[in-house]
Amino acid sequence: MFFNEDFLQYVWKFRLFDWNGLQTTDGESVEIVSPGLQNTDAGPDFQHAKVRIGDTLWAGNAEVHLCSSDWKRHGHPDDKAYDNVILHVVYRDDEPVSRKDGSPVPTIILRDRIDPELQARYQRLVFGEQQIIPCEKSIGAVDDLILSNWLTRVLIERLQKRSAEVTKTLETNRGDWEETFYQYLAANFGFKTNALPFELLARSLPQVILAKHKNNPLQIEALIFGQAGFLEDSLADDYPQSLQKEYAFLKQKYKLKPIQKHLWKFLRLRPSNFPTIRLAQFAALVSQSNHLFSKVLEIKDPQKLRELFDDLNINPYWQNHYQFDKESKPLVKKLGKSSVDILILNTLVLFLFTYGNNMQSERYINRSLQLLEMMPAEQNHIINSFVDMGLKIDTAFRSQALLELKNSYCNQKKCLQCGIGIKILKMA
Ligand code: SF4
Repeated sequence: MFFNEDFLQYVWKFRLFDWNGLQTTDGESVEIVSPGLQNTDAGPDFQHAKVRIGDTLWAGNAEVHLCSSDWKRHGHPDDKAYDNVILHVVYRDDEPVSRKDGSPVPTIILRDRIDPELQARYQRLVFGEQQIIPCEKSIGAVDDLILSNWLTRVLIERLQKRSAEVTKTLETNRGDWEETFYQYLAANFGFKTNALPFELLARSLPQVILAKHKNNPLQIEALIFGQAGFLEDSLADDYPQSLQKEYAFLKQKYKLKPIQKHLWKFLRLRPSNFPTIRLAQFAALVSQSNHLFSKVLEIKDPQKLRELFDDLNINPYWQNHYQFDKESKPLVKKLGKSSVDILILNTLVLFLFTYGNNMQSERYINRSLQLLEMMPAEQNHIINSFVDMGLKIDTAFRSQALLELKNSYCNQKKCLQCGIGIKILKMA
């Protein structure tokens, strides 16, 4: 039967072995008072373990290996960090081990003490056939309370990871939340296809410049389309010409350098998602909602946050255009519901969480989680697969948590570090 060190650590951590009459390889009795805390960083596998060996109570580290010879293979005899190991827990004892000073390390062998059924369950769970995730045949039977608790933890991990990235950007922006929020919002306005040029545009055009023109939508539009590189060509319609005129002045005034127009992608996009339309919507949002991040913080009712994106007054020119100088059939260019959901998810939820985290304010963290609870679940083939496994996924809270679970745990077969996997292994 094949298993790895992770499994042995799991067995040790939860004491899932027969400990009656436990003895070291030297024949001394062993009582486990505490297996210690699992250490995922460098150093011994468990810290603050407590064991009674013979008549002496020892407190220190425990190290787990499949074979005792791994002690040498992993270079522990020369590593001071392992001097304080009080117990070596092995599956198989193939050679005696000692510390740097030559003293022997008390060792216990688990080989004949682990229930074969537990080993078989682990084998089936982690190495069995799978289409999507290792536990796809069992996850549907896990109690919903256990699922909910674990998914909440995984979701918080996801938000913490992403909020660490926001915090880094915030530092490069010298703690300016408005500027950082504006940069993220812009990148998310590009959705998948035009995220990069949108981000470059925002970095080339600080929010503080736009704020100076908050009462003049035409100047905001000129700054945005100009910096996006769309006003460099010769254009015939009155509207783009008036933008060019405004931009020429503002470009000079703020010494601006536009990004390159060729970065914007139109290919395979529906006209209503063309970057020109997104830029017009972004310009409308910037004009209508100055100091947007402060506004987001002020709005207490998460439902009302949606309204920020509803009914953006984009310039009437875009009613019958998708690009400059190309007239099209009239159509109102509103941000679709799913687009608003993506903007809320990737910007508002993330920033409320990051702000709450950085300011140690539960209020904003809770607001971000409430938003996720109120939003519909994403629809994609991964989420549909979880539904087929029997999971109820009715909100973005769950779908986001499941996406994180799949990426950070299931794909890496970290079933023994997963609350669901631990439950499945205990299920008869
Ligand atoms: S990590 Fe957890 S949810 Fe994912 S396959 Fe393993 S046990 Fe299942």
